[in-house]
This record gives sequence, structure tokens and C-alpha cells, in this order.
Amino acid sequence: MTFQSHETRYVWFGDKIVESNMALIPAQSPSARYGLSVFEGIRGYLCVDKSVINVYRLVDHISRLFRSADKLSIPILQSPAEIIQAVIETMKANKIESDCYLRVDILSTQSGSWHSLEPGTLSITVTRSAKDDKLDSRIQSAAITNWKRIDESQMPPTVKAGANYINSRYGYLDVKAGGYDVPIFLNLEGNVAESSGACIMAVIAGQLITPPLSAQILESITRDTLITLSGDSEFIVTERDIHPEELLKASELFLCGTAVEIAPVTSLGGIQIGFGSPGKVTKEMFERYLSEVRRPSGSDSNIYLSKS
Ligand code: PMP
Repeated sequence: MTFQSHETRYVWFGDKIVESNMALIPAQSPSARYGLSVFEGIRGYLCVDKSVINVYRLVDHISRLFRSADKLSIPILQSPAEIIQAVIETMKANKIESDCYLRVDILSTQSGSWHSLEPGTLSITVTRSAKDDKLDSRIQSAAITNWKRIDESQMPPTVKAGANYINSRYGYLDVKAGGYDVPIFLNLEGNVAESSGACIMAVIAGQLITPPLSAQILESITRDTLITLSGDSEFIVTERDIHPEELLKASELFLCGTAVEIAPVTSLGGIQIGFGSPGKVTKEMFERYLSEVRRPSGSDSNIYLSKS
């Protein structure tokens, strides 16, 4: 196995650090056969004073991991505090001193079928991830996919399960075939839900709006951060159902999520949104988000690592 430059050498697998090519799961496992897993994608940010890396809202991510595992009855052998420690150990083993992206997975690696109740295996990987801080390079084209977002009554989108991303994949393949970058899913009621790997926010009639948690979306940590950050701005986020027709009248539209952070969407199904470039509110929220995640002192759920 060869490594790309951004990949790192060591991963946490089970109860220890191993070389990443040693982190293998059986082909017969429920994860391999049925996509049974829960996971989190988390970002670490080098703070402005460059003295610490802020693993942004790590405690909240690990709480969501436990909620997901609980809902699917996948026992986790470690406590939240032990997983947090394992994240730090994995970063240290790889000498991470800059922005990074972490994946914490609970994999179902024992033999058994999709109904296995065996404990999951903890897997933590970290990659160096230098995303540029310019909004223009992040512009996406979107289209509403014909696929509907998974529904709470069938496969809860609030559970961050690996298999949920098969629904994301259908939507992605659908719009990609039409030449667009990302899908926007409607829910079974016909209202806007979310994208394939991010939530959405739109400026409609001068108001910054995002679909509510009841719209069949992941309880996004980035969305929650932006709602808080908007609190003392002139664009307080309103959570309400959005009809797809309204999106076409939006003056701004953007994706938000840990991986994408904030990405402007400047066209929907080939129709230009606003002026076809990142708008004022998107820029303001992006600046607020970057200064929040790179802040050397933050909330209790920020974990600080000494770089030395
Ligand atoms: N929705 C979906 C389907 C996602 O995969 C993600 C990325 N985890 C998000 C929303 C954004 O969630 P978060 O801000 O917690 O990363």
C-alpha cells in the first residue's frame, strides 16, 4: 500500500496505534458486508497564534458518535474520555502541527450479520488538510436531486451511519450526471432538507434561513455553530421549512459542514443565485466561522494540543 503525501503513517485501531496498512477489517464483517458503522469527521485548526491546534468541538462530535452508536445498538468499548485521548495520541503519533481532518469510526469488524450486537472497533485516522481560506475557490454548483433524503421513519438522518451515505451517493451521482457539483435533497414532504455531506443556509427576502432539524437533516455541528455566531450579527439564522421554489429566489446560498466549512453555491439547476458570486452574508459568516475555529481560547469542548 502506498501513501499520498497528505496521508499519515499511523492510525488508532482497536486499542492501540498501528501502521495504517495494518488496520484491516475482515471481508465477512458487518461493516464490509452491510456498511454497518458510525463515524465522525472532525477538523483540527492551527490557532492564530500558532501555539495550539484546536480540535474543534471534539467533545460534541464524540457525543454525537455515542448517540449514533446507541441508536444502532453498536456497543463502544471505550468511554468518551478515552476516545478523546486516543484522538490526541493519534495526532501526536503523526506529529500533526497544522490543520488536519480526523475521522473517528466505530466499525463492526467481528463475524456476524447485519444484526450483530458485537462491540465495535474504534478506528481513528488523521490527514493533514490545508484548505485555502478563499471563498472563490470553494464555489459549488448545485441541483435538486430526484432522490429524496432518508427519513426518520426509515433510516434516521440524525444517526451518522456509514450506510446513510448510500443515499448521499445516489443524489450525488444523479446531479453529477447533469454536470453539477452537489445535490440538494428534498424530504418526503417536499421541503428542502440538506446536501449529501453538508447542511444548507440561504438568504431569502433578506433573511438567513436554514431548514429545521425536523426537515430530515443531520444535527450538524457547523450549522449549530453558525446559528450561535449569527446571534450578534445583523443576520440571525431563522430555522424554518424551505420550499424548493424559494431557493430559486434566494440571493445567497451556501453549504455548511465540518469538511466543507462554508462553500458558496452560486447556481441551482443551472439558474444563477444572486449575483453568481459569494454574497455579503456568506462572506460575513465565513469570516466569523474561521475566526471562531482558529481562536486560541474557546469553549470547554475545545481541546488544545501543545505543538511541542
Ligand atoms: N449533513 C450531512 C449529510 C453530513 O454528512 C454532514 C457532515 N458531517 C453535515 C450535514 C454537516 O455536519 P457537521 O457540521 O456536524 O459536520
